[in-house]
Parts: sequence; structure tokens; C-alpha cells
Amino acid sequence: MSQRCFYTLTNAVKNYPWGSHNALNQRFHVLNPDDQPQAELWMGVHPAGISQVTVEGSPLLLTKLIASDKMAMLGAATAERFGDLPYLLKILAADSALSIQVHPQKEQAELGYATQENLTSDTPDYNDANHKPELVYAITPFMAMNGFREPGEIIVHFKMLDIEGLRGAIKVLEQQPDTEGVQAFFIEIMQLSEGVKKEALQRLVSDAQKLYGDNLARFIHKLYQYYPHDTGVLAPLFLNCITLQPGEAMFLHPGTLHAYVQGTAIEVMASSDNVLRAGLTGKKINLKELVTCTSFVPTPLKSLLMAPVEENGQASYPIPVDDFHFSVIKDVHNLPIHTQSAEILLVINGNASLQHADGETLTIRTGQSVFIPATANDWTLTVTGSLCRVYG
Ligand SMILES: [Zn+2]
Repeated sequence: MSQRCFYTLTNAVKNYPWGSHNALNQRFHVLNPDDQPQAELWMGVHPAGISQVTVEGSPLLLTKLIASDKMAMLGAATAERFGDLPYLLKILAADSALSIQVHPQKEQAELGYATQENLTSDTPDYNDANHKPELVYAITPFMAMNGFREPGEIIVHFKMLDIEGLRGAIKVLEQQPDTEGVQAFFIEIMQLSEGVKKEALQRLVSDAQKLYGDNLARFIHKLYQYYPHDTGVLAPLFLNCITLQPGEAMFLHPGTLHAYVQGTAIEVMASSDNVLRAGLTGKKINLKELVTCTSFVPTPLKSLLMAPVEENGQASYPIPVDDFHFSVIKDVHNLPIHTQSAEILLVINGNASLQHADGETLTIRTGQSVFIPATANDWTLTVTGSLCRVYG
């Protein structure tokens, strides 16, 4: 197979019902002839949506290109450690909220995936043996929930609701305002009787603004609009609510309860599909596995935003796992790039020209992406606008 340095990608679009009808189309020029909800665009080798490249005029799965020479494509370190492209890059455009969820730690995924019960289930809790840390980088204002609030804050929020049937849960947390207490409180909330849940949601939605102010009310109303009978509508009272501004990013550790509520973002994750749901969903909730995989350690809101390290027009985000690296490059001219693992570049806006010393060149524009094998080594990049770079 011919070896090149730059392979333009053709990517799978996911038409999940929560997706936006126009965000991917208008901002990233992803065609939408049938006016479908376009929820996600996947760049990578995940079996549920493998990207394609063009080789000698014919389409080829990226998996096949990589398999043709793993050492050359991935680089020795990635080939030995992961055996395949270790990350998945997505553009995500949410009109309505995604489920509240948690992704397991690696050890839990390995254990859970291997059980007989999981392997023979029609609706397994674990789809693979991998963890799924995630980075989310906002393209538009992006509403999300990420990690538990401090116990004191949770108590205040629930007391304000003033519902008799919630007193027991509040008392549990008051008596033990720590990680274990948060866990016990969460289990109580997940098992509220229908009557208490209904009363709480009604009071919550009618008085949200008065009780909690504009920001929290916006989250509550947004969730209630799509899930009027779901306990998850209470989540803004116990999870951090954040609206990332364009260009801001946060990391979601495995074990952290989170939900994406609305907006367009770039998402990078380890190549895994392990999701345990906690709310805002019609799918099953396995409370026992969910509690096993969830970290109940409160996350301070101000710790959520990532601080990139900027150098020569490249902002690198400090990723606390070794499955992927992520940086954003803006307005550079002939920036030298050293590639030593498989990379994917995606133009966020404007255009980018890639030039290799051997003469190969490629120009891509907004919404286009390119795969670069480890053997590309040294090349130069010119960007008018901005582009993100993911590598191993
Ligand atoms: Zn997630």
C-alpha cells in the first residue's frame, strides 16, 4: 500500500434524536439533505463508526490502513501499548440533554466486562474492557453538569425545595456530610417514590427561578422540557452546573457523574463505549453497578476549567491520562510539527495547509479532518483560523 503523510478523512455522522438539525451542517459543512438531527461526527476507528480514507482513488477503512502497517501508522509506543488508535475524536451538537452518566475506571471495566452475566446479557452494562476519560472543548456556549457539589450546597438546595418526602434523604447527608454521605444521599434520591418524585419535580419547575436564580433555573427547565418525569431533573441541585464559553475546555474523569445539556463541542475520549446511566434516559439504570463505578468525592466548581499551556500559537491541554493528547492551534505560519504517533487534525474554522519536506501538501477547510501516520515525522503547518490536533 502506498505510504503517504496526509489522509483526508470521511467520517460517520450519528443521527441521535438529541442532536441539532443545523449546527454540524451550518458550522462544519456536514451535509444534511434529509434534515436529520446530526448529533455527532466520529473521527477514529471505533467499530460503531469507522472513518474512511482514500487510497489510490478508492475508499478504504481507516482500520485497514492502520492494520496494513501498525508500527508505521501508530508508532512503536502506541502499537505496543494499545495495538490500535487509542482515542476517538468527535464533534458533538446537542439540542436536548444527553443522559446523566458515568464511565467506569479501567479496573472496573475489566472486571465488569469479563463477568458471565455481562457477556451473556442482551443489554450488557459493559461493552468493552476500557475506561473512557473525556475532554470537552466548547465551540458554542456549552451547558453541562460535571461532578458532585459540596455536601453543604446540596443540603441547602434540597431544603429550599421544602418537600416532606425529601427530609429523610437530606437528614442522611446532614448526619454524614462527606463522600459516604453523598453516596447514601444519591441512593435515596435514585429510589424516591413516584409520589415524592412528582411533587418534587412540580415544585422544582414552578419555583426554580425564585429559589435558585437564572442559571440553575435554565438547567432545570431545559431538562424538564425533555424529561418531565425523570429524577434526573433534580440533578442540577446536586451536580455542578457549568456553561463553557467557546474555547474553554474541561476534563471528565472516569467515575465522574456528568451530562451534556446543550451546545456544540469537540470531544476526545479513549476508544471505549462504556456508559452507566443515572437519569435523563429511557434506557435501563443499574443502580448497583452505577454506584460501584461512581466517585462521590465532591468536585469544586472552580477546578473544572482546564488551563492550557500556550507555546508558538499552540495551546496544549494537560490531559491526566496517556490515551491521548489535545491541542488547539490558531493562526500560525509554517509552524514546524513533529509527529511521532498517529494524529488526527480537525479544522475548527478557516483553513489549514500541511506541507511535508518530501513535497506532499494538503489544504483542508472548516469541518475537514486528516489522519497523519507516525512516520510523517517532521512537517509544517499553516493555519488561518483554528484547528485541533489529537495525538497519542
Ligand atoms: Zn460521557
